[in-house]
Amino acid sequence: MSWRLEVAVQTPAHSALGDVLSYASRESLPPGTLVRVPLGRREVLGVVWSGQPAAPELSDTDGPAIKPVAGALDALAPLGEAWRDLVGFAARYYQRSLGEIALAALPPQLRDLSAVQLARRLKRQAVPPEAAAEAAGAAHAGLPPSAEQTRALARFEAEPGPFLLHGSTGSGKTEVYLQAVAALLDREPGAQALVMVPEINLTPQLEARFKDRFGSTAVVSLHSGMTHPQRLASWLAAHAGAARIVLGTRMAVFASLPTLRLIVVDEEHDPSYKQQEGARYSARDLAVWRGRRENAKVMLGSATPSLESWHQSRPAEGDDPGGRYSRLEMPTRIGTAALPAVRLVDMGRQPARTVLSDALLEAIGQRVARGEQSMIFLNRRGYAPVLACGDCDWKSECPHCSAYRVFHKIDRTLRCHHCGFTERVPRACPSCGNPDIAPVGRGTERLEEHLGELFAAVKRPDGSPVRIARIDADSTRKQGALQSQLAAVHAGEVDVLVGTQMIAKGHDFRRITLVAAANPDGALFSSDFRAPERLFSLLMQSAGRAGRDAAYLAAQGATAEMWIQTHHPQHPLFEALRKHDYPAFAQRELQDRAAAGMPPFAFQALLRADARTQEGAQAFLNAASAAAEGLERAELVTRYPAVPHAIQRVANVERAQLLIESRSRVALQKMLWAWQPLLHGLRREPEGKGVIRWLVDVDPQSI
Ligand code: ADP
Ligand code: ZN
Ligand code: ZN
Repeated sequence: MSWRLEVAVQTPAHSALGDVLSYASRESLPPGTLVRVPLGRREVLGVVWSGQPAAPELSDTDGPAIKPVAGALDALAPLGEAWRDLVGFAARYYQRSLGEIALAALPPQLRDLSAVQLARRLKRQAVPPEAAAEAAGAAHAGLPPSAEQTRALARFEAEPGPFLLHGSTGSGKTEVYLQAVAALLDREPGAQALVMVPEINLTPQLEARFKDRFGSTAVVSLHSGMTHPQRLASWLAAHAGAARIVLGTRMAVFASLPTLRLIVVDEEHDPSYKQQEGARYSARDLAVWRGRRENAKVMLGSATPSLESWHQSRPAEGDDPGGRYSRLEMPTRIGTAALPAVRLVDMGRQPARTVLSDALLEAIGQRVARGEQSMIFLNRRGYAPVLACGDCDWKSECPHCSAYRVFHKIDRTLRCHHCGFTERVPRACPSCGNPDIAPVGRGTERLEEHLGELFAAVKRPDGSPVRIARIDADSTRKQGALQSQLAAVHAGEVDVLVGTQMIAKGHDFRRITLVAAANPDGALFSSDFRAPERLFSLLMQSAGRAGRDAAYLAAQGATAEMWIQTHHPQHPLFEALRKHDYPAFAQRELQDRAAAGMPPFAFQALLRADARTQEGAQAFLNAASAAAEGLERAELVTRYPAVPHAIQRVANVERAQLLIESRSRVALQKMLWAWQPLLHGLRREPEGKGVIRWLVDVDPQSI
């Protein structure tokens, strides 16, 4: 008997190959089995999607014979139906091929292992069941929950969800996740929980908390900072059902978890849950879908939820039946630590070119003198965003991008943050020869230098000089650098910390009593309608780094403060921030979004095209738009004209995009599906000739 198997393999994104390829097999392999199959001249990993008996003579008469499967990795249990459904849904929803999503969801090392190597690997990996049970028993008891935590946990147990846990920074959300997982494992020792976090650099702290609570064999991590063998080991432990808890970044949403019962998405508003290349999936949205499909409870948590989730969790009111999510509220910080007082500095009243106002410098100086820590945050790395000539109009433009190259003083380079093009700083203006070229504006590197001068005379309580440190993508390039720099802050070896948004998120710094945003105004008037939402959340997160330890504050006799330097102190965003009033901010934003028919009241997708010329990119998009006329449901979808991307040219490639929008998600999806073949076809038309690549971004997070 011979079998014809449909196998998902990774095919080039825009090849004409279909979703699955057919292969012949002498045995029937169940769906979900990993196989090695020939593709072109290579042998690649694939996942069996379906199979049926095939008469061998059929292939002889029906064109070329299908190739046989090269081998099955059948030491591994097949990937379950729920997992395959998740992959199938993600492929459909985000307009990608099944094989691309399926293979990207597997640990890379699986691609290189032969059946024999894998079998050997599995033997080594196997943990005797008694050892796993023992480990789970070693779990530490949790802290006695606060009244708010108790209420949240009780509703979590009683209701079906999905849940949005809206809790202030430091209100004990992580403790709620821990206790929810503990309750689950008490009830059902074989269950699995998936806990997702946005950033790798936050994982060590959280990982330690989970391992401390549940024992180190029960918890495995999955993120891109791990080596391939580590990732494979974690993945196998999850797939075998040996790991109780998988902690990971967005990629973990695709982990194979046969007994998944609970999914936590911490900091659910974080943009990093949206993959920004290839298949542009939202791990948060997939988590909600997966939870429903697998009957696992889903808890999204944040101090500043995305407006989508906030709207989805609105209570019923009048004719409005309310959203699908249950909202759990934890407004109070643990230990009754007050949220920091927000102080706005009107930069319009400061002398021109003031970097840090005198009042702020004074406040930081006092804290240094008392031995407390301060944090200044500026969302721009490097020394200065532009280098300019005072005589002519030369500026440090990147020759390959529509952007300036940033001046990095530390190695005297001009670096493009978009394409990476780097050169040594010229001695004189390349255009007129003037030796006097000067930095314009300020990045973290320059701020750090400036602070050193300003605080030269300030002394710590023991009379020693102030210690200033900087954490950003430049300072943390080396392996392990971030960990050691964070450790120095935790150990109290830093008095003033300067950094980008890397330092604003998540870290549980205990001795920081003042946080300042040096120049957050840019986002107030951005062309991206999500910019205010991002800014608000970033400032709330930053504020959340100050005064986390009530006992420390009391012992110091200090109050926690968040300083914001702005030219627009009357802006309602800052007004809401001053009151720590996320609901007020959200209500205003949602009103604006409703009036303008924007998400969450509408659904969007972007068609993006890269080409040698801007005209070429736009011609393709406009032709695509014309071709969409008359497609199924197209009348329910608004198509906007093609426009240049916010950064129009990167690495000599011109970028353009076209927005489509609909009040109906179904209509948008239907139209996108009908559109795909037309888009592929357009590549062969004159309008598509100049196009290097194109893609569809469903639910784009930046416009
Ligand atoms: P969040 O995740 O909301 O920022 P955490 O869960 O990290 O908050 O809690 C903030 C701090 O309060 C942590 O140091 C944590 O150990 C402590 N904490 C949380 N819950 C309790 C509790 N029930 N009793 C005592 N301390 C708690
Ligand atoms: Zn010049
Ligand atoms: Zn560049």
